[in-house]
Amino acid sequence: MQLSHHYATDLTETVSAVTPQPLSDLTLCLTNTALAEQFNLPTDWFTDQGIIEQIFSEQGALGKQAVAQKYGGHQFGQWNPYLGDGRGLLLGEVTDDKGAQFDLHLKGAGQTPYSRHADGRAVLRSTLREYIGSEALHHLGIPSSRSLCMFTSNERVYRELPEPGAMMIRMAPSHLRFGHFEYYFHSKEFDILDKLMDFTLTRHFPDCASQAEPHKALLKAITLRTARMVALWQVHGFVHGVMNTDNMSIHGITFDYGPYAFMEQFKSDAVFNHSDHEGRYAFDRQPGIALWNLNAMAYAFSRYMSIDDIKDCLTQFEPAFLAVYRQTMLARIGLDNDKEHEACLNQWLAMLAQNPIDYTQSFRWLASTDHDALTPALRDHFIDRNAFDGWWQDYRQRRQSSTESQASMLARNPAVIARTHTLQQAIAAAEQGDFSIAKQLLLALQTPYQSTTASEPFEQPDDSSETVSLSCSS
Ligand code: AMP
Ligand code: MG
Ligand code: MG
Repeated sequence: MQLSHHYATDLTETVSAVTPQPLSDLTLCLTNTALAEQFNLPTDWFTDQGIIEQIFSEQGALGKQAVAQKYGGHQFGQWNPYLGDGRGLLLGEVTDDKGAQFDLHLKGAGQTPYSRHADGRAVLRSTLREYIGSEALHHLGIPSSRSLCMFTSNERVYRELPEPGAMMIRMAPSHLRFGHFEYYFHSKEFDILDKLMDFTLTRHFPDCASQAEPHKALLKAITLRTARMVALWQVHGFVHGVMNTDNMSIHGITFDYGPYAFMEQFKSDAVFNHSDHEGRYAFDRQPGIALWNLNAMAYAFSRYMSIDDIKDCLTQFEPAFLAVYRQTMLARIGLDNDKEHEACLNQWLAMLAQNPIDYTQSFRWLASTDHDALTPALRDHFIDRNAFDGWWQDYRQRRQSSTESQASMLARNPAVIARTHTLQQAIAAAEQGDFSIAKQLLLALQTPYQSTTASEPFEQPDDSSETVSLSCSS
């Protein structure tokens, strides 16, 4: 198996070679077989010690070209030039049968020049959350990095308490972040910035590279992809939790999973990251923050285009966001993409906000409710039945009464999402060496729009589990 490593060889100034350091007694605990097959990865990697030797032994192909990437980022609004892969390593690139090239990125393999006194390790808890979360989003249709495999260890990693350490390999079209462009702009290393832009255009955005104004086309493409990603977050009630610019992918894929969560009850100002005291990354602030982040990155484009052209690109964020949001949300409640239905959608959301009803389930119940026969299953969840009845009368006149329409709604409203309390159950079992819940969850999340009979662990939690507090880097 030959890995290419264009990033490391073409942009040597932006990386540091690092030898991956294993944890003791590593065990391969999860493998994404479908993803491995898509990229024709050797099957012997995924048996016993196969991939572990490939990464950590001297003869292995996977570890010997490993590099840490340098980047910066705006963290909670403050510029930080000292960032980089502190515990992540780019192993190389693989290509699938259709020619799509993806990075292999190992997380948790020890210190790098960018670790800033931290240990370069990851704990099982956060690794499993990322592993499951990114697959969940992908299968919901929200662009995301992917999870290839995960390893556990009997070695402890010290956080507030000692915890089991873990590693994972994730895949993405690239690991280029907004913070890459920002860093080489603010450090005034313009030769490197030029090379990075050229590399990005030729390798990752060839459609932009061939245009008359490639950099403008690139900024516009990143803006539109980011708008679409965040619109889909809002549609599904997903809160990323740490939208620092170093955690934003230029491909518009969900990236660097930390204290993320799917909302249970619809709360527009929901915050799950316990260090986000000001609610900067609250649910309803995500679109505005995405635009703020694009704006921060766009400084780096000022070298290649006029300020007016930059504004021209960034002003496309809002209409692009709204177009995806409106169309997808209206489709969730079975209405055509028509401006005149918007008030009905907004009233539905207002009712969700006022009632202790689960966000994901409420849409599924609505989709399961027959147009001509309102069952108590839905209505009983609303405290103010009169308000609900008024809304329903208006709504049912707008919605088509057909089996196709109902099938289409069911295909757009997930029955299964990655709920925080279920992830906690999967983590607790995995910490005892039992990955059966994690595997069961991953399997169900592959077909989130199908009703599940094994619904028990996937339904809304009781009140006690709402209080799980989620931390940034762990
Ligand atoms: P995050 O909040 O996970 O996006 O991380 C922010 C920065 O801190 C990135 O540069 C990470 O590589 C670095 N970092 C986070 N955790 C660790 C760790 N345990 N060891 C070294 N660097 C880390
Ligand atoms: Mg990060
Ligand atoms: Mg991280």
